[in-house]
Amino acid sequence: MINVTKTYIPDSKKYKSYIDKIFSSGWLTNNGQFVRQLEKRLKQYLNVKNILLVCNGTIALQLAYRLLELKGKIITTPFTFVATVSSQVWEGLNPIFCDIDKETYNIDSQKIEKSITDNSSAIVPVHVFGNSCDINFIDSISKKNNLKVVYDASHAFGVTYKGKSILEYGDISTLSFHATKLFHTVEGGALVIKDDKLYEKAKKMINFGIYESDNIKYLGINAKMNELQAAMGLCVLDDIDKIIYCRKMVHEYYMSKLPQNLQFQKQNKYSSRNYSYFPVVFEDEKILLRVEYSLKKEGVNPRRYFYPSLEKLNYLNKNQYAPISSSISKRILCLPMYDSLTVKDQDKIINVIKKSV
Ligand SMILES: *Cc1c(COP(=O)(O)O)cnc(C)c1O
Repeated sequence: MINVTKTYIPDSKKYKSYIDKIFSSGWLTNNGQFVRQLEKRLKQYLNVKNILLVCNGTIALQLAYRLLELKGKIITTPFTFVATVSSQVWEGLNPIFCDIDKETYNIDSQKIEKSITDNSSAIVPVHVFGNSCDINFIDSISKKNNLKVVYDASHAFGVTYKGKSILEYGDISTLSFHATKLFHTVEGGALVIKDDKLYEKAKKMINFGIYESDNIKYLGINAKMNELQAAMGLCVLDDIDKIIYCRKMVHEYYMSKLPQNLQFQKQNKYSSRNYSYFPVVFEDEKILLRVEYSLKKEGVNPRRYFYPSLEKLNYLNKNQYAPISSSISKRILCLPMYDSLTVKDQDKIINVIKKSV
C-alpha cells in the first residue's frame, strides 16, 4: 500500500539511547530535560522568540483562544482540518466562515471585513498546506477592527514569510506535531506567542495554572509534552533538512510529469515552501472519483483532504455558505507525499492519473 503519507521513523538506536537516559533519570514528564532541549532547538531552527511545547496541536489552539480571552464570534475558514473549528466550539466560541480564495485555498482576505460584526473577537486563518495567508492584509484588518489573530500554522513548519518565520505573525501561531505531519513528536504541538507576558502565563496554564508550588494563579489545564515525545522530536529534528530535501525532489518530479491541465495550489510569492502536502484539483468531482477509484485499485491511497468543507458540520448553525470552499473540497485530492516515496511509485501514480483524466 502506498498511503498519502508515511510517518518518518528515525534511527531506532538513537531513540533507544534517549529512552535509556529517560529510564535512568526516572523523569518522564513535567518540563524534563528533553522537552527543554527540544524547545531550545526548535526556537533556533524555526527562528522564533517564544515557543511552548504542548501535547497536541488541538490543545495548542484551545490554549491560544483562552490566552487571548476570545469571546463570541470567530472569523475562520471552512477549508481546514476539523480541529481548527471544533476547538473553537469546544471553547464556547462561534465560528463564522469566510470563504476561501479559489487559487491559494487560504481564507479570502478581501472577504474578511464583510464577516465582522459587533460580536467578533478574532480571525483564525490557516496556512493551508503550508502556503502563507495574505498576512499583511490580515494584519491591517485586525488592527483596524481591534481583532486578535491566531494562525493555525499546523502545516507550516519551517516556512518563512518575507524572510522571517511565518510563526512570528499574528498574536499567536500554533503548530501540530502529530505523526502524520512534516515534523512530529508522535503526538504534540506548540504555540508561538508574540507577547512575553502572555508567554509566561501560557507556561503556567499548560500545568493546571500552578504558578509556584502552592500558588494556583490561573485557570489551567494539563497540556504538557512528555519526555518520550520530546525524544522523538529530537531524533526527527536531526533529519529534518534531509526530509524536506527529499520531499522537494518528490514535489518536483510530480510537477514535471503530471498533466498540466490539473490545478495546482498557487503559492504566495513571499512564502517559502516546506513540501508538506501535494494537492491537485480536478475539473469536477466525477473525474476525482474516477482517479481515486483507479489509484485504490493499484494499491495507492490518496486522501480527499480537506473534505467535506466545514460550513456543513452538523453541530454548527446551519445557515452558512462557502461556495468556493465547497467546490474545491469536492474536487481536491492529496497525492502521496513523503520523503521516502520512490520514483517507481510516483510513476505508477502519475500513469494512473494520466489515464483517468
Ligand atoms: C493536524 C491539524 C490540527 C490538529 O493537530 P493535532 O496535533 O492532531 O491535534 C489542527 N489544524 C490543522 C490544520 C491540522 O492539520
